[in-house]
Amino acid sequence: RGLPKYSTAAAIDEPITPPVDINYTKLLINGKFVDAASGKTFHTVDPRNGKVIADVAEGDAEDVNRAVSAARKAFDEGPWPKMTAYERSKILLKFADLIEKHNDAIAALETWDNGKPYEQAANIEIPMVARLFRYYAGWADKIHGLTVPADGPYHVQTLHEPIGVAGQIIPWNFPLLMFSWKVGPALACGNTVVIKTAEQTPLSALYVANLFHEAGLPPGVLNVISGYGPTAGAALCSHMNVDKLAFTGSTSTGKLVLELAAKSNLKPVTLELGGKSPFIICEDADIDLAVETAHFALFFNQGQCCCAGSRTFVHESIYDEFVAKAKARAASRSVGDPFKQGIEQGPQIDPEQFNKILRYIRSGVDSGATLETGGDKLGSKGYYIKPTVFSDVTDDMLIAQDEIFGPVQTILKFKSIEEVIRRANASEYGLAAGVFTQNLDTANTISRALRAGTVWINCYDIFDAGIPFGGYKMSGIGREKGIYSLQNYLQVKAVVTALKNPAWL
Ligand code: NAD
Repeated sequence: RGLPKYSTAAAIDEPITPPVDINYTKLLINGKFVDAASGKTFHTVDPRNGKVIADVAEGDAEDVNRAVSAARKAFDEGPWPKMTAYERSKILLKFADLIEKHNDAIAALETWDNGKPYEQAANIEIPMVARLFRYYAGWADKIHGLTVPADGPYHVQTLHEPIGVAGQIIPWNFPLLMFSWKVGPALACGNTVVIKTAEQTPLSALYVANLFHEAGLPPGVLNVISGYGPTAGAALCSHMNVDKLAFTGSTSTGKLVLELAAKSNLKPVTLELGGKSPFIICEDADIDLAVETAHFALFFNQGQCCCAGSRTFVHESIYDEFVAKAKARAASRSVGDPFKQGIEQGPQIDPEQFNKILRYIRSGVDSGATLETGGDKLGSKGYYIKPTVFSDVTDDMLIAQDEIFGPVQTILKFKSIEEVIRRANASEYGLAAGVFTQNLDTANTISRALRAGTVWINCYDIFDAGIPFGGYKMSGIGREKGIYSLQNYLQVKAVVTALKNPAWL
């Protein structure tokens, strides 16, 4: 896609000018881009160098109020929930076409705001967004209730109705992909939406909000609020006119969201939270494939994945060979300006995450793990961190327990299947897991025993639109994607009609 080529010098100090203009920096309320009621703005920053990209309208409680009113009106008065499901489906399909048409511009915004490699955004993530909307467009006209047999002279049917105004809050690590997981099913079911984007990455959602209107989405059906969590986010969670909340972010914020929902109108909540996912490599695994996949499972997206395979468990018989290869692979990872061709890793999102990761690296060294490679920042500008590998990690170390959310692989040793299952499950999280083995029985045993929402066998991070995703334990409540996400956005109404002449019974 015409990117300058990656060089080993990885020109971190001279960032490439992103190939896109910033045209959308205001809030989208009732089909119009507007300033915040307070007139306030906030900086969105380039993680490559800490420079301001743009000033974006800073929504807070009053803007959330305006957006919820617009969404309420669009829901109660229509036309969105009242139009035929086929009409809704056509608008979602048109939107997906527009995403494809604008793929490269959206990918450039995503890279600029987030720091992720442009090739990853352009070739994987933005195409997945279009795919997701097509998938849910396909569901729109296939949502229907049941006819239920009754014990008496009654005709019983269930109606699957949209729930109303959906409030949605998303994080910064996959800004538009998280937008699609939330907005796609909500709109397909006939709901209206107020979505609050992460303060670090507001740009791509505002850009596509405009495409939604080009696709024919009526005003008020989708409202986009940029702003901070404790102000705009909390206002959305507490709002009495929001009928459902969907949140993705940290477990600690998820608890707050649930509390705010309970204290206001008891709106149902789905949560996609953190993880500390085990990646188990058995003695019969294809070692080279396991090394490469475990590397991908941890380092993908700068290690900023909720489902990162962040506890690499390796059988003792292949441990030394695995560690040597994992170290070599991490040391050869291409880190640099994410707009360069061939770059695998860009900067971390912001100084908070950057410093937090460096603190975890220090804690790993202090607690006695062996630092195989990396272990420090890279370059003099921005938030780059060297791909880091620790071996000799034990379960009691902080780096084996906490979500680091950065490019730090921790490799642990195990002896038996029973032992690794027990240790893998000994976490407050239960989001995902990976298993590498060539033995079907071992794969079946481990995948059934693990308390995790997804288990990938001999692969990792496969995210097709139809595959449900979500967590056990403190990794969340509910599932997104696939058929399961529809349930989050539907009410079930039982309609029981007395039959005057039930003779046919
Ligand atoms: P975060 O919880 O701080 O922020 C997430 C979102 O919540 C942001 O939009 C933020 O503005 C908002 N928020 C913050 N405080 C709020 C409050 N008091 N009320 C309402 N909203 C509030 O998380 P983060 O650090 O931005 O994201 C990283 C975390 O997200 C990691 O723990 C990661 O595991 C998790 N995550 C989970 C998934 C998943 O699908 N399970 C996906 C991506 C990220």
